[in-house]
Amino acid sequence: MLDGTPRPDDDEMEVEEVQSAAATAKASLPTSQQQQQQHYSREDEIEKLRTSGSMTQNQAEISRVRNLSRVQMGRHEMEPWYFSPYPVEFTEEEMIYICEFCLGYHGEARQFERHRLKCTLLHPPGNEIYRDDYVSFFEVDGRRQRTWSRNLCLLSKLFLDHKTLYYDVDPFLFYCMTTRDEHGCHLVGYFSKEKESAEGYNVACILTLPQYQRKGFGRLLIAFSYELSKREGRLGSPEKPLSDLGLLGYRAYWQETIVELLMDGKRSETTVEELAALTSMTTNDVLHTLQNLNMLRYSVR
Ligand SMILES: [Zn+2]
Repeated sequence: MLDGTPRPDDDEMEVEEVQSAAATAKASLPTSQQQQQQHYSREDEIEKLRTSGSMTQNQAEISRVRNLSRVQMGRHEMEPWYFSPYPVEFTEEEMIYICEFCLGYHGEARQFERHRLKCTLLHPPGNEIYRDDYVSFFEVDGRRQRTWSRNLCLLSKLFLDHKTLYYDVDPFLFYCMTTRDEHGCHLVGYFSKEKESAEGYNVACILTLPQYQRKGFGRLLIAFSYELSKREGRLGSPEKPLSDLGLLGYRAYWQETIVELLMDGKRSETTVEELAALTSMTTNDVLHTLQNLNMLRYSVR
């Protein structure tokens, strides 16, 4: 069902172009998280989380520079890129130890080792909904797995510049991509998706963990999100703004997908609507991709 072959990334994309496009998207579109927060009624719990210091929704805090120096997860050590609202006492530690299965975090190696002896989780806590020779996808319900989902959001904020969701995980499903070996299913990346998106978004947040980037996994995540939309019989598009890396990944995916369709020899002419129906991409995304490729021809009917 999915083409997992890693491909060369779209390196030639002008950085300036990406940044200005991202800036335009950021300026023009309110995020649905902001809209949701207005309707949301679990104020008590949210207030508790905010005042206990482990969560924040203050924009100034969120855009602050990165606050953790190093993170260890499974076999990998990573240097975070951005601020993430882990409890403030963790910012003093040289290394934060993250359990790669439950995503719990520890500031001391000994405490973490004790945790590892007790932790029984070997994969994300949800249903395995896809498996091939190399990867497994798990669907995790934010409401049923609140702590795990919040831990995932904290972790991913370390590598996403604008993400603002931490505590309000109930309305989301998390599609988690893992690689399997004899030790368990290791988290590679994920995307979140609103259970009901009024705007027709098929992805809210998307991230490949840095230790797995540039191996073709991002493309697989995007492809999977469109396969879900196909099953739902809907067209979908990722929520804006996309991160800069996300935008690059999507542009490459859209171009490859459309060029492949146009080259498959099955049709002598086609329309934007037909391409959208075949790919589950929105007509807008098809149109912009064709414009970027300078492949549009207008005809009078
Ligand atoms: Zn654990």
